[in-house]
Amino acid sequence: MNDDYVHPWDQPEAEGTHRTVQTTLHQTLTGLPVGLATLDVICSACKRAIQEGDHLWVYAYRAADDPEWLLTRCYCEACAVDEIETPTLGTSETLVEARLDVVAITSEQRHHLCLGAVDVRAFSPLTEGARP
Ligand SMILES: [Zn+2]
Repeated sequence: MNDDYVHPWDQPEAEGTHRTVQTTLHQTLTGLPVGLATLDVICSACKRAIQEGDHLWVYAYRAADDPEWLLTRCYCEACAVDEIETPTLGTSETLVEARLDVVAITSEQRHHLCLGAVDVRAFSPLTEGARP
């Protein structure tokens, strides 16, 4: 566990039945669904299709009061970016390299793509960056 990604101010308040756990970005983003139900993930830069088993680079962010990370941009190996160009204050942001994996949900006879072998390349905490 890398404590660089976990900060006390980054933890939502525990209330009611909510339980707060500390985790790593690696653990949070691994298995997170990406792409469409058609099993297509398209590079945000060159529009090339990224296939199962390919490496991809994903930009994800989470606002201070949002419990979930949002994956907004995916890049193929040729278009990979290794830094967060314009960090935003009040938003946790990360750039990860991952492998595109397929998860089979046998009970529903469907598949979806997800992130596997997640490797954090860049991270910007809530307290860094320019005001939005
Ligand atoms: Zn590309």
